[in-house]
Amino acid sequence: MKPHEHVAAFGTVDGELRVGGLPLTRLAARVGSTPFFAYDRGLLDERVDRLRTALPEQVELSYAMKANPMPAVVQHLAGRVDRIDVASGLELRTALDTGIRPEQVSFAGPGKSPAEIGQAVASGIIVEVESPTEIERVIAAGDELGLTPSIAIRVNPDFAVKGSGMRMGGGPQQFGIDAERVPEFVKEYARAGVDIRGFHVFAGSQNLDAAIIAEAQRRTVELVVELAQHLTTPVRYVNLGGGFGIPYSERDQALELDVLAAGLQELVDGPLSRELPDATPVIELGRYIVGECGVYVTRVLDRKVSRGKTYLVVDGGMHHQLAASGNFGQAIRRNYPLAVGNRIEAPEDENVTVVGCLCTPLDLLGDNVAVPAAGIDDLVVIFQQGAYGLTASPTAFLGHPAPAEVFV
Ligand SMILES: *Cc1c(COP(=O)(O)O)cnc(C)c1O
Repeated sequence: MKPHEHVAAFGTVDGELRVGGLPLTRLAARVGSTPFFAYDRGLLDERVDRLRTALPEQVELSYAMKANPMPAVVQHLAGRVDRIDVASGLELRTALDTGIRPEQVSFAGPGKSPAEIGQAVASGIIVEVESPTEIERVIAAGDELGLTPSIAIRVNPDFAVKGSGMRMGGGPQQFGIDAERVPEFVKEYARAGVDIRGFHVFAGSQNLDAAIIAEAQRRTVELVVELAQHLTTPVRYVNLGGGFGIPYSERDQALELDVLAAGLQELVDGPLSRELPDATPVIELGRYIVGECGVYVTRVLDRKVSRGKTYLVVDGGMHHQLAASGNFGQAIRRNYPLAVGNRIEAPEDENVTVVGCLCTPLDLLGDNVAVPAAGIDDLVVIFQQGAYGLTASPTAFLGHPAPAEVFV
């Protein structure tokens, strides 16, 4: 997708990018400082509506809140999705603060501490156990609290998902229990005073190939049907993972949601209703829900020319936006879409390199990009910033103040 397509998604007003209904300079004045992150409520709602319309009714939508844990965003989404997936004790408290029912919350991730497991069992959420040690801790917490913990078994599948930005299943993994070991695991813990509600398979993140994700979901259901035979209770929870990607570079194409929806409908009508009639299928998504509704807004501090190359130095950088600098798991750095947000309709007649304010060559936000002529105090906007921005960046690096975050 090209930068102008991202501009079109937000819209323009008075020659400026429109975010949350406001011209960008007005929003910047309202926020009071740069740099800042802004998440557009209207775009977020549109995305959830589109998912709801496309996906089969029976499939529950879970928000993986590590993508964007801002409490206002989580609160807003709690009323619009079915579930929240958390990955730490703090995320668990934020999720429960929304008023969501505990049964609608799941907790995944290797290395949950005994304290976090205690929190999870006390609150009555579904703990997605990733190892024998974890289930022992869950059982101990249940005994101590006099409660029957609800769990799902996270399975490391015997297949890998190709094309994922980050692979989290197949081969040896720190995630989940290897599929071939699940039968003996279930046998050992079937009568241990835990309620095994079902299974969770999450095999990868940031995938833009709908056919590959659909194939992974088909194989996941096949695997769960087989593993279900080993349980003494019916499967009530099948978390099929997610991994739906969003286009970051110009070469990326948006995911074909219709292909995924059709694949899920086949699973719902076929093996899920035939073999697992008591199971609620769940899709858990982070960046696909929130990624595209967010921008990171920086102000130009300096403009300089070095041996023929023009630099815009902005007041933000990789300390708030590690991924845009190319240092968050990318094999090859590619520019994120960016624009000069207060000169949105001017012709793009200059090539500039946008760098952040940190004293390291890693702090590169846009390499040789075409923009309208811009100078000091103009606002450089980076798109696709609603997920894995602020909380996935090294904010303490160089000791600059934290950026503001607004939900408009
Ligand atoms: C991080 C994570 C997600 C969300 O991944 P996205 O790429 O943001 O959709 C979903 N499930 C689990 C278990 C995760 O760890």
